[in-house]
Amino acid sequence: MRPRKIPQRKCVACQRMMPKRELIRIVRTPQGEIEIDLTGKKAGRGAYLCGQASCFKLAKKTKAFERALKVPVEPAIYDRLEAEFIRVEDEFAAGKERADDDDDG
Ligand SMILES: [Zn+2]
Repeated sequence: MRPRKIPQRKCVACQRMMPKRELIRIVRTPQGEIEIDLTGKKAGRGAYLCGQASCFKLAKKTKAFERALKVPVEPAIYDRLEAEFIRVEDEFAAGKERADDDDDG
C-alpha cells in the first residue's frame, strides 16, 4: 500500500479523527448564519461532524457546535440543522461514493 496523505478532521461530537470527506461540515458564515456546508468550501468558521445522525444527536446533547463555533447556538438552530442533516445524509453518502473515484487524496 502506498502512503497517501488524507486530510483528517475531528468530529466535534465523538472526537474521532476521520478523513475530511467522511465528515459533514457545519459552517458559521461571516453573516452569522449556521448552516450545513456540503461543498466544504463556504467561508466562515467550520465544525466537522461524522455523516451520521447519531453524532448529530450527540453534538446537540453536548452543545458541541457552541464550543466548536465559539458562538451560542440556540436549540432551534440545532433542530433546524438536524432536519437538514437528515435530509442531506443520503446526498452526502452518494457524493462520497462518487468522490472515491477521482479523489487523489
Ligand atoms: Zn462523530
